[in-house]
This record gives sequence, C-alpha cells and structure tokens, in this order.
Amino acid sequence: MEKKICSTCGGANRTNQSVCEYCGTLLIETDSVEEEIHALNELHNSLINADNKIQKKLLRNGFLPQNEKSLIEAGFKCIALMDVDDSSGEPSTSALMRLKAIKVKLKITANSKEAKSAISEFKNVISGYEKKSARNTVFGFILIGAVIAAIYFIFFR
Ligand SMILES: [Zn+2]
Repeated sequence: MEKKICSTCGGANRTNQSVCEYCGTLLIETDSVEEEIHALNELHNSLINADNKIQKKLLRNGFLPQNEKSLIEAGFKCIALMDVDDSSGEPSTSALMRLKAIKVKLKITANSKEAKSAISEFKNVISGYEKKSARNTVFGFILIGAVIAAIYFIFFR
C-alpha cells in the first residue's frame, strides 16, 4: 500500500491522513474552517491511540489552526485533556503548553467577541494550573525540609 511520508519526521502515514499521526504536522493544505476542524479531529484521534512519547510530540509540535473558530476549538480540546489533579503529569503538561501557544496566537490574530471570551477562559485555566504547580513545589520543599530536620534530630542530636 502506498504511504504518505511526513516531511517533518519521516513517518509513514496512510494516504487519507491530513495530519501526521506521529508528530502532528499538516500533510495537506487546509483552506476552510471545516478542513481545519477535520484535521484537528484527526490530530486528537491520533492522540487517543498514541503512547506517552507520541502524545507529547503531537501536543507540543502539532499544527495550530489559522482560522479563529478552529483555533478556539483547538484550545477547548486541550482543556479536555488536562487533569487538575495531575497538573505536572502527562498529557496535562503538554496540553498546557499547547493551550498557551493557542492563546498567544489567538491574541495576535483574532479580535472578535468570541475570541476575547475564549482568551479570558484560557487565561483562567492556565493561571489555575500554574498556581497549582507552584503550590506543589512549595509543599515539596516543606516535605524535604521536614525529612532533613527529622534525620538531624534522630542521628546528630
Ligand atoms: Zn510527522
């Protein structure tokens, strides 16, 4: 069977693929919002079956849509992949990186009411995650401090 070779990663894709299932590069030209949404859905379908390493690649290198509507959709698709209780794990970390890139691109390219409200929602999600991981870091330091103190009192007092 003939394969479509990705110019970014060299992965062999099925000829009907619009997005590389190994790295998320667009394999076709997308002109309309519909085509972009279709490609976006394909990217997220590849994510479901991919292992952790490929998932990371797809989220960190995956194509970003050009049209405002599909860009907003791409952001909400990232939020759906993020888990607050595992904010420093995967795919949360990579989905957060993608969401940040989407927010920046949306800010630069779009100016509608829908875009503005999506940007403020993305902002809230991003800052919620960053607060959570900052808390985890502080807790980690307190824990390490407590262990060192305990060792000191047990062995060196
Ligand atoms: Zn590829």
